[in-house]
Amino acid sequence: MTVYGGPVFDMAVKQFGVIADHLSIPHDERARLLMPKRAVTVSCPIHRDDGTVAVFEGYRVQHHLTLGPTKGGTRFSTTVDLGEVAALAIWMSWKCALVGLPYGGAKGGIHVDPAALSRTELEALSRRYMQEMIPFVGPHTDVMAPDMGTNEQVMAWFMDTYSMYQGKTVTEIVTGKPVASGGTLGRREATGRGVAYLARRVLALLSVSFTDATAVIQGFGNVGSHTALELAEHGIKIIAVSDHTGALYDPKGLDVAALARHAARHGSIAGFSSELQCDPASVLTLPCDVLVPAAMERVIDADVAAQLRCRVLAEGANGPTTPDADQVLEQRQKEIFVIPDILCNSGGVVVSYFEWVQDLQQLFWEEEEVKQREYRILDRAFDAMVARAKKENVSHRTAAMAIGVEKVRAAKTTRGLFP
Ligand code: GLU
Repeated sequence: MTVYGGPVFDMAVKQFGVIADHLSIPHDERARLLMPKRAVTVSCPIHRDDGTVAVFEGYRVQHHLTLGPTKGGTRFSTTVDLGEVAALAIWMSWKCALVGLPYGGAKGGIHVDPAALSRTELEALSRRYMQEMIPFVGPHTDVMAPDMGTNEQVMAWFMDTYSMYQGKTVTEIVTGKPVASGGTLGRREATGRGVAYLARRVLALLSVSFTDATAVIQGFGNVGSHTALELAEHGIKIIAVSDHTGALYDPKGLDVAALARHAARHGSIAGFSSELQCDPASVLTLPCDVLVPAAMERVIDADVAAQLRCRVLAEGANGPTTPDADQVLEQRQKEIFVIPDILCNSGGVVVSYFEWVQDLQQLFWEEEEVKQREYRILDRAFDAMVARAKKENVSHRTAAMAIGVEKVRAAKTTRGLFP
């Protein structure tokens, strides 16, 4: 029996089962690797602008503490529940291990629609959530970051709240902060930059020239928008973009810089153009070279997987592809090159690690150094994944997860079971 549940948690369990079978991990060892170490639920009351009190439920799940502090984002969304947060924490563990960061995975969130709150209410909720989390987090215990529905401003409120209770400034308690309050250069762009970098590596591998290539982006938040901007900067045409409000399609290529400015001002792509609107449901299956799901979990099921018409599937989101879809994609390995989420979007947490290191040392790097170090780590993990997939004749996802799971397992085995 477990308190975790729901389709996203089931997906993390299923995926782990595939890897554990592949690695022949004895059954009695599996729960120790898979089940989260700690989970907290907090109720966060705030004053609404109209004087009433509203209570929001918040969560934090710390998956394993074997390699160092836990690390992961905080999500503000109406999809958030304990099961989703637990699954995302588990995925953070495999991601951090794959790219070699000294962290276990964590994730947190609040069940709330942040767009329905005023700025004052959002600040109150962010601060109350961090205040409730003080007994459970710390720069060497658990380090938060942005995720869906949160941003640099929320991280600044988190950092300030924690710091005020400590009586000193503790910038290293969260990453993804504004540069003005201890953030690092290059964190805002890091996830999208990494997605675009890996997508370009694969296009080069497939001998597709960038100027002939097209891309489709689902989701235009921090990840989707920076992926689009980076790809466009290298001459790749962004022919479609969608978000929760709708979709835009232009076979000649969208002006993503203008679209990003619009989205920054208005909070979405709505109202950018009436002529270019298209059906958001059709976006994932448009013919293109690079498809970037950069929004939600489970958007590519077996049905969608069978209809995909991309050469490269670059998973900017966490968990966009279901295990059933993975089986379809395994049959289509020669047509579609999958860059699995835990590698594809890992640039974000890699640069979060750089931010944490810089904060601890109070020694700050130039953006070019951040970028080059990010690319070096992504290259190493990409090469390891491709080599392993070839050697063991498995999918890229299985190879990437196997590397991550194996590293966590090796750490647990060598440390032993104590007390
Ligand atoms: N929320 C991001 C992720 O899912 C970033 C986590 C972090 O930077 O700690 O990878």
